[in-house]
Amino acid sequence: MILLSSCFSGIVAYSVSNYNGIVIVIDAGHGGRDGGSVGANGTIEKEINLEYALALKEKLTASGYRVELTRKTDDGLYSETAKNKKMSDMRARYNIIQNANPNLVISIHMNSFSSSEARGALTYYRNGDEASKNCANLIQASLNKYCNATTAQGKVGDYYILNCSYYTSVLIECGFISNPEEERLLNTDEYKNQFIDTVYSGLLLYFGNGGNNTSYI
Ligand SMILES: [Zn+2]
Repeated sequence: MILLSSCFSGIVAYSVSNYNGIVIVIDAGHGGRDGGSVGANGTIEKEINLEYALALKEKLTASGYRVELTRKTDDGLYSETAKNKKMSDMRARYNIIQNANPNLVISIHMNSFSSSEARGALTYYRNGDEASKNCANLIQASLNKYCNATTAQGKVGDYYILNCSYYTSVLIECGFISNPEEERLLNTDEYKNQFIDTVYSGLLLYFGNGGNNTSYI
């Protein structure tokens, strides 16, 4: 978790009969020379972030959502000639979000802490944005029920990806790769699929009952 952060409730009024009108940007954190955190047993955060992002994309695309990824490969989004590669990378992610004009941005990360005891998924939103808070809370509630999670509600997070636009945005720290047991779990297909299904359940609640006649103002 090393993202800078922040966005406004980009809630756009719409009414849909299915998910075809809904656009979601999925952001796999880090990439390229920015590997993110390193797990207790060597998991590289950027790699597992991409795995989870691709799995979530597959799930959402199969359900009719339109999904844009900020990155599809291991590479970062910075220009090789940029002096400040982190800034260049984040600016590129911001541009992708702006061009997609999404209903929701989901950034995927893995957590790390000095104590190997820390565990559990955490969902963040930018301070003062009710739509993002609502979405984060619904995802977190699903995670609390079906996955490793220890917090009751979403948390305020000061991250660039949440603050960079006014779109509804959440950042999910899927678990602590600094915790050997959780790192092992996060690397299994079984837990990954369960995790993605759980995030998806939270999104279903956010976007309404089957997407029917959902209207957000
Ligand atoms: Zn991270």
